[in-house]
Amino acid sequence: MGVRLEGKPVVQALRVDIKQRVSQLGEQGMIPAILIIRVGVREDDLSYEKGILKNCELLGIKSVVKGLPADITMGEITAVIEAANKDDSIHGIMLFRPLPENLDFDIIKNVIDPAKDIDCMSPVNLENVFEGNLKGFVPCTPQAVIELLKYYNIPMNGARVVVAGRSLVVGKPLAMLLLNENATVTICHSRTKNMPSVTAQADIVVAAIGKAKFMKDEFFTRDSIVVDVGINEDDDGKICGDVDYDQVFDKVKAITPAVGGVGTITTTILLNHVVQACEAALKG
Ligand code: NAD
Repeated sequence: MGVRLEGKPVVQALRVDIKQRVSQLGEQGMIPAILIIRVGVREDDLSYEKGILKNCELLGIKSVVKGLPADITMGEITAVIEAANKDDSIHGIMLFRPLPENLDFDIIKNVIDPAKDIDCMSPVNLENVFEGNLKGFVPCTPQAVIELLKYYNIPMNGARVVVAGRSLVVGKPLAMLLLNENATVTICHSRTKNMPSVTAQADIVVAAIGKAKFMKDEFFTRDSIVVDVGINEDDDGKICGDVDYDQVFDKVKAITPAVGGVGTITTTILLNHVVQACEAALKG
């Protein structure tokens, strides 16, 4: 019988720490503040924004939303980010992605001040992660995976971990964070031959490939710990992960659900970064 690894208790534990730090900052006259920059009105962005605002309220973090028109120019969006970089009352900047096609993310990611880059878009922060320096901002979803494994006391030290997916947002930085925890990491991707034979050797399998219910029971063993990062729609339009949860659940040791698992933790990590940025600003 598998164990369901819920994200909610992880969030609750993280919130206790964040609230305490927000209160300590308050005693020194600082209120951590996030600026959300949203271009256009994509449904996904609006729903993410709603979640962030709700969590900000709960944690005592100030939030400001700047909604920009979808046809904004590079010059205009750059000016908005540069103004936020200079604004001492803003500690963290969050820019929703993907951006409309007329905007060049490869340029924009270099404009954001690395000290306010709470979503780890800046190459400066990403480079630090790959150098093994985790003192800056690390990408939120990979960090959410690490927090989940730590919360459930799942040993990473020396463990064989397979990360399925090699994107710059999830797979690659997650592999670096796992290495930092002394795991033995293997990355699988779309060209990996016979992936089930690789994942079945692992103690922990993290799925981040973006393919609905792709990983079935032949990918796992009774001892597998499965962390499913995927958020996809199945044929009926229902949210599902990269792992076929219903088929796999009672054939593995433990597994995260697609809804209420890793994704639940991500926003809290983002807001933890706002507090971290505010603490760093206080130190100067
Ligand atoms: P991506 O499309 O950028 O990358 C997918 C990766 O999977 C690629 O590296 C590719 O090589 C690999 N891949 C594709 N098909 C494969 C196959 N058949 N076998 C093995 N590997 C294969 O996606 P991403 O941004 O890394 O996101 C991955 C998934 O995680 C998506 O479902 C996304 O929605 C989800 N996601 C969730 C969160 C969260 O907070 N839970 C955050 C970001 C992304």
